[in-house]
Amino acid sequence: MESFYIKVEKVDEAGYDAALRGLAHNKKQETEKMTVVAEKLAGLDGGHNKFLESMIVWLDVRAPRYWWQEADTFRLSSKQSESTMHTLTAELLAIDMDNPASVEAFIADNFEPGSCSPATLKWIYEAAQQKDIIQIKKKLPEGFLQTRLWCMSYKTLRNLILQRRAHRLPHWKEFICQSLAVLDHPELLPGLERKQKIETQ
Ligand SMILES: Cc1cc2nc3c(=O)[nH]c(=O)nc-3n(C[C@H](O)[C@H](O)[C@H](O)COP(=O)(O)OP(=O)(O)OC[C@H]3O[C@@H](n4cnc5c(N)ncnc54)[C@H](O)[C@@H]3O)c2cc1C
Repeated sequence: MESFYIKVEKVDEAGYDAALRGLAHNKKQETEKMTVVAEKLAGLDGGHNKFLESMIVWLDVRAPRYWWQEADTFRLSSKQSESTMHTLTAELLAIDMDNPASVEAFIADNFEPGSCSPATLKWIYEAAQQKDIIQIKKKLPEGFLQTRLWCMSYKTLRNLILQRRAHRLPHWKEFICQSLAVLDHPELLPGLERKQKIETQ
């Protein structure tokens, strides 16, 4: 297994036809002719690629919370996450702490490799036994994997790719790679390589 973990699954995607219709209004032409125009404008910021705001994607992403902390700085998007308040205590108490296989299975399913030892899990488990939700949250390693549904426009995704494709945290490159592989219109987004002149930072 890799030393880091991130998994992206596309749940839904919408808005391409509507975005092209909007472009057609702007050009006073038929929507069908806008495919090529969209590709030309997608890389031009400064107002020319506003149609990307009409294209929305919903991605289900499982990643460690230290990565989510960075992802949260992208404000023009919406997220719905797994709860660490309501469900985690019950899940912790379901572990058979006397059974190493049960402990290892919980760690493998819920933490990035190397971020939670059996001793750390026992420490968190004891807080769960006390129903002490604050202690559980305090003790939870940053490598705890959380799944969130991340809804954003192609415009936000474009901004993210330009900012993060060369980021030191490998999760970003992997997130971009996996996202581009599942999107319907990767041709409207920057690639992983730095071939475009326009940068946002
Ligand atoms: C190497 C690196 C280090 C960083 N370190 C830190 C850090 O230490 N702390 C930290 O907080 N962030 C940090 N950031 C995050 C950075 O400041 C951005 O917030 C983040 O990358 C999201 O980019 P954005 O604001 O362009 O995206 P979005 O939040 O998606 O915004 C997109 C666009 O909308 C505009 N916008 C968004 N909200 C508003 C608003 N309320 N009013 C007006 N315009 C708005 C933005 O200016 C931007 O043009 C770091 C980023 C990088 C790449």
